[in-house]
Amino acid sequence: KLHNTILELKGNIRVFCRVRPLLPNESGAVSYPKSGENMGRGIELMHNAQAYSFTFDKVFDHSASQEHVFIEISQLVQSALDGYKVCIFAYGQTGSGKTYTMMGNPEFDDQKGMIPRSLEQIFQASQASMLEIYNESIHDLLAANRMAAQDGGSSKYSIKHDANGNTHVSDLTVVDVTSINEVSSLLRRAAQSRSVGRTQMNEESSRSHCVFTLRIFGVNEGTDQQVQGVLNLIDLAGSERLNKSGATGDRLKETQAINKSLSCLSDVIFSIAKKEEHVPFRNSKLTYLLQPCLGGDSKTLMFVNLSPEVSSTGESICSLRFAARVN
Ligand code: ADP
Ligand code: MG
Repeated sequence: KLHNTILELKGNIRVFCRVRPLLPNESGAVSYPKSGENMGRGIELMHNAQAYSFTFDKVFDHSASQEHVFIEISQLVQSALDGYKVCIFAYGQTGSGKTYTMMGNPEFDDQKGMIPRSLEQIFQASQASMLEIYNESIHDLLAANRMAAQDGGSSKYSIKHDANGNTHVSDLTVVDVTSINEVSSLLRRAAQSRSVGRTQMNEESSRSHCVFTLRIFGVNEGTDQQVQGVLNLIDLAGSERLNKSGATGDRLKETQAINKSLSCLSDVIFSIAKKEEHVPFRNSKLTYLLQPCLGGDSKTLMFVNLSPEVSSTGESICSLRFAARVN
């Protein structure tokens, strides 16, 4: 009872922090932030002889497995089955483990991320779509022919919300989900289709937001009414600051688009948390697309992903501050 009251006061926004392990090809100083054990709530970092400490709903350290992390979100996935609208974001600098957390490596059972695990849990009549927002324009990741899909001109992929709070993106490929195998191959195709660029930090750095949406059709057991839940899993573009990516020209434009949309996202979640009257959904494609699934009685979870390298500490503190603002 008391627990419920606390949850109500806190609203429907949760933040989980996840620190990835040091990779085999990485060397040098490591700052596994102190989280006590492999799953606590606090995280502490030292930077320029100063201590920074943050508290979140959960902190997973480098030893937390994909299965372990999924256990902590499976209730949220279940609520989409019960008719809620749910958004799960992964935020962090390039190379911090966002894509690993969301998609993981589907070839290995223990490395599967939250998207394949959610699909396995849901396994019920649903429709999947997957899109990418790059420089404020939408690309269909499930289109049979990616190139053809891009030639459509600006009228393609316009976003509309209907009176029932359902979102329609014109011309977007929507796939009926009937078997897990079918979905796995779709996810593979989509992963390959994501636009990747080169930065000094990570050759396969993702410069776009990737939004996986599952619309779930179910029946409320209490009322026998048809319910439609939505589960959005969003792998955000890298949050690193400009100077670190050495950006110029087109890359600079990309980075500015990323920075703007990430700060819009923060503004939107912040004003929802503060119960402000005006929520600036329309300031970016991402927040406009997700509008019906943010606020109201919808549920939001943000993963803030961190790299354990000492050289990333500055970026990690920026990410933690971003997350602390929306928490
Ligand atoms: P991002 O999507 O944030 O740029 P990635 O998910 O691609 O970062 O992760 C960068 C690298 O670290 C990848 O090689 C990935 O496999 C690895 N990695 C990330 N998180 C973990 C983890 N929890 N356990 C093992 N390897 C991880
Ligand atoms: Mg990635």
